[in-house]
Amino acid sequence: MGALTVGVDLGGTKIQAAAVRSRKIAGTFRVPTPQTGAADVAAAIVEAATRAVAAAGGSSADVKAVGIGSPGTIDTANGTVSSSPNLPGFEGTEDVPLGAMVSEGLRGAPVRLDNDVRVAILGEWKRGAGRGYRNLLGVWVGTGVGGGLILGGKLFEGQGAAGEIGHTIVHPGGRVCSDGRLGHLEAYAGRGQMEVEARRLVNKGRKTSLFKIMERKGRTRLSSGVWAEALESNDKMARRLIDDAAWALAVAIASVQNLLSLEAIIVGGGLGDRLGAPFVRRIEEQIHPLLFVPDQPPKMLTTEHGDLSGAVGGAVLAGG
Ligand SMILES: [Zn+2]
Repeated sequence: MGALTVGVDLGGTKIQAAAVRSRKIAGTFRVPTPQTGAADVAAAIVEAATRAVAAAGGSSADVKAVGIGSPGTIDTANGTVSSSPNLPGFEGTEDVPLGAMVSEGLRGAPVRLDNDVRVAILGEWKRGAGRGYRNLLGVWVGTGVGGGLILGGKLFEGQGAAGEIGHTIVHPGGRVCSDGRLGHLEAYAGRGQMEVEARRLVNKGRKTSLFKIMERKGRTRLSSGVWAEALESNDKMARRLIDDAAWALAVAIASVQNLLSLEAIIVGGGLGDRLGAPFVRRIEEQIHPLLFVPDQPPKMLTTEHGDLSGAVGGAVLAGG
């Protein structure tokens, strides 16, 4: 009994669970995220966890602990989530006791919760691309740009919000960020703000295949897959906006590097994983001329676990 630890990555569209035994992924399962409220989300997490455990050849009696990475404001001590705009049932400022709800569905197994990006970076640091490094930065490029900073072998939290590289300034007075401030990295490299810019250019009469690809794929937003396909078909606007994103990431990462002299940078997240090594190489080429100590560049890494990084991190968070 108690041989499995379960990690869960709770996203706005999907819930990914992984059952881990002896530090290795033994089973995984994914379900769509219910758009019908917190109770249904908790039930879906329990289902994904139970199916991942079954895929690992276990039963719920084998679950030692569960770790969940969730978007929004997390109270790690109480296992609650609030203010998560993309999760129906969690958007308000009222705390949802997600940890307790999931624990109840899994025979009282202890449940730990933390911020989704930090949990994914924890997974890559302890069990993935970042193994063995003591000083590193994870940059998660998705709808927004999240980050997590490991310093001296510990997650550095500052007053609580350290590592938010997405809101460092790459162009004072520049594009509007999702938080309304000007010139932040996320305004150039977050998928949400890249889409805002693409729509603005289309309204000015510029041509692109981005929105045609989006419609053909049955999407309502420019997903990572849409961007990747537009790049493959040499769409000029997509190329320019992705180049802007790579440039902005290079500026922000070079500034962090000049301040902290890190060993490695991991680039992950939905868009980061989808564009992969060529995108990371492009960022890397543009970082080098900006480095104060060019002969000590950070190792630029892609993730090892891809979209399982968050679930692996959840298992690490739970002690597995
Ligand atoms: Zn911002």
